[in-house]
Amino acid sequence: MKEDTHRELNQIVAQLKGHLKYQKALGITTLLSQGVRRERLTLDGIKQELGACTRCRLHEGRNHLVFGEGDPHARLVFVGEGPGRDEDLQGKPFVGRAGELLTRIIEAIDLTREEVYIANIVKCRPPQNRNPRPDEIQTCLPFLLKQLEAIRPRIICALGTFAAQTLLETEEKISALRGHFHAYQGAKLMPTYHPAFLLRNPHSKRAVWEDMKQIKEEYKKG
Ligand code: SF4
Repeated sequence: MKEDTHRELNQIVAQLKGHLKYQKALGITTLLSQGVRRERLTLDGIKQELGACTRCRLHEGRNHLVFGEGDPHARLVFVGEGPGRDEDLQGKPFVGRAGELLTRIIEAIDLTREEVYIANIVKCRPPQNRNPRPDEIQTCLPFLLKQLEAIRPRIICALGTFAAQTLLETEEKISALRGHFHAYQGAKLMPTYHPAFLLRNPHSKRAVWEDMKQIKEEYKKG
């Protein structure tokens, strides 16, 4: 009983810390800002603020900055890790082989790409598709958080380890994180495997389908 209370308390503290960090990323630095009228963020405004971003070293090798695309009022947002070669060339998220698989996954829950929003943790392609580094993630992340604040989705699907660990601020493995919803800034966040991982590990498709079925049920609630 005592242990349960302790765990719950830790969860609340972790959520509060995450919330404060989220607010800070959105430019709110004092709790007294409650009640102060803030301008509603828009995707266009965020895009303008980002401009031809050179805030981290990833801009050096990019062809295109991949901002994200889809319905600006989407109830469901997919968040991946970062652009790959095809995405960098086209300036759109998830357009390569992994992107085709993501499109099929979205269609399997009776939605289209146009009805959801798709973005990434970092907006420029890491060289040779290496993992984004912590400083690159920290520099780019505020823009994704602002996009989420502008869209205010009810459901977020974090695709792969980086997206799930970054948004949930945890080092837990994706295999432990997936399979159930996590509370995230007023939304429900479902971590699942990245489509690129699925291409290499087709046996994990069943697990993703289980996660997607939960998303579909939650989406139907409106
Ligand atoms: S990855 Fe993000 S922070 Fe870095 S240059 Fe690109 S847009 Fe800017």
